[in-house]
Amino acid sequence: MTVYAPPGSPDCKVQFKSRYEHWIGGEWVKPAKGMYFEDISPVNGKPFAEVARGTAEDIEAALDAAHKAAPAWGRASTTERAAVLNRIADVIDANLELLAVAETWDNGKPIREPLNADLPLAADHFRYFAAAIRAQDGDFQEMDGDMTAYQYHEPLGVVGQIIPWNFPILMAAWKLAPAIAAGNAVVLKPAEQTPVSILVLIELIGDILPPGVINIVNGFGVEAGKPLASSNRIRKIAFTGETTTGRLILQYSSANIIPATLELGGKSPNVFFADVADKNDAFYDKAQEGFALFAFNQGEVCTCPSRALIEKPIYDSFLGDAVERTRAAVQGNPLDTGTQVGAQASNDQLEKIMSYIDIGKQEGAKLLLGGERNDLGGDLTDGYYVTPTIFEGHNGMRLFQEEIFGPVVAVTSFDGYDDAISIANDTLYGLGAGVWSRNGNVAYRAGRDIQAGRVWVNNYHAYPAGAAFGGYKSSGIGRENNKLALSHYQQTKNLLVSY
Ligand code: NAD
Repeated sequence: MTVYAPPGSPDCKVQFKSRYEHWIGGEWVKPAKGMYFEDISPVNGKPFAEVARGTAEDIEAALDAAHKAAPAWGRASTTERAAVLNRIADVIDANLELLAVAETWDNGKPIREPLNADLPLAADHFRYFAAAIRAQDGDFQEMDGDMTAYQYHEPLGVVGQIIPWNFPILMAAWKLAPAIAAGNAVVLKPAEQTPVSILVLIELIGDILPPGVINIVNGFGVEAGKPLASSNRIRKIAFTGETTTGRLILQYSSANIIPATLELGGKSPNVFFADVADKNDAFYDKAQEGFALFAFNQGEVCTCPSRALIEKPIYDSFLGDAVERTRAAVQGNPLDTGTQVGAQASNDQLEKIMSYIDIGKQEGAKLLLGGERNDLGGDLTDGYYVTPTIFEGHNGMRLFQEEIFGPVVAVTSFDGYDDAISIANDTLYGLGAGVWSRNGNVAYRAGRDIQAGRVWVNNYHAYPAGAAFGGYKSSGIGRENNKLALSHYQQTKNLLVSY
């Protein structure tokens, strides 16, 4: 196990600046109104940097830079654009530890996640879209007479992107890679809770890109996000965040008749059929691990398996084992590679989770594990730690219907296949789901019957580049993580040619 040195100490892999500006037109730009906000580390609850607080003026400046850059970048060959994406991926790989410490300090997640998952996935994502844009074909059709119809993919021009705080660098990669691969210039607003790790990445990749192709304006939702999403100078807005905010984004974009893609919230069911307990073997162990993944990344995952559905014959025994399995998860210093559960991303988030734990108790759900703020003592005493929490109840409860976005799972039983599908689908959301069964036929059918954009069958929480990701129902519009995403950043040019 390795414990990485914290920022501020001489051995730390990353040296944060005391102040971060916006990144506009290939340079650091001070905020037009001269305002800054503090970025607080959830690891110890203390501010560690000041960040430019963007307003409509900064968004306009970034849009100016993006409009200047877009024509040449859109005309650059796909080979040239792919080379830039591949270089970004190489820089992420070469700076893995530095970026991982930055991400952990900004977000509170255990460092093993950015080291082993988030950052390698981000690099692979850039490589995937580098390959996808080079492989994309246009088409043509011979029409009546002497005409031929040619279909070309053209970039949209300038696009806006707004992201949340749970996977700062990975969410930025999911948005930026398809957009710039397709030849657009971007204005991206990171979440106000976690702007700095993205800016550390920009310090590393800034000179790889032509100025103005990627612009970052920091700040809050209404002050900086709204002027971006409402602007008539973007040709598309891509958003990841809460479903309530997604509704507002659609309203803003509809005024300008521009498309929006939305990656929103979830309340994902994780369904365990009775045959998982037929043997106490590696498959059973994997299913138990699959249950405990609700605490992965402190439950701050849009596809958190936050509802566990266990078939009646195995309910008591499977749940009993799962409680013990979860109890054994190591919560501790997020900079320690042995830590499995870190800190919630902000004090607001911590309070929201604690309020849902109270709601659960009030509505009569039975608390089986956790339910407390965890004081880790020493330098971490003011950090935002919540113990993994297991409740049992029924699907009508708020605990089962509302997204908590914390390490809280609500567990219930089901009676046969149809009951499982009915409970799984009894939600506003349709982002992720898990299905566990030794019977391939049952697992496959359930995977098809559950209304969600991503169903993990006998696994959970894998996000390989190439596997399309996005929501059914109120969980969103559009797909990311797959070449389909290119179409969200392109328009079709038809050239009808006579000879
Ligand atoms: P949020 O909606 O509060 O904020 C997301 C972003 O939107 C932030 O950058 C914020 O500043 C900005 N914003 C807020 N109000 C705005 C407004 N009026 N106009 C423009 N921008 C505005 O969400 P959050 O709390 O940061 O993130 C958690 C949510 O994100 C959860 O619901 C989670 O499920 C969802 N999420 C979804 C996915 C997915 O791929 N489906 C991935 C990660 C997170």
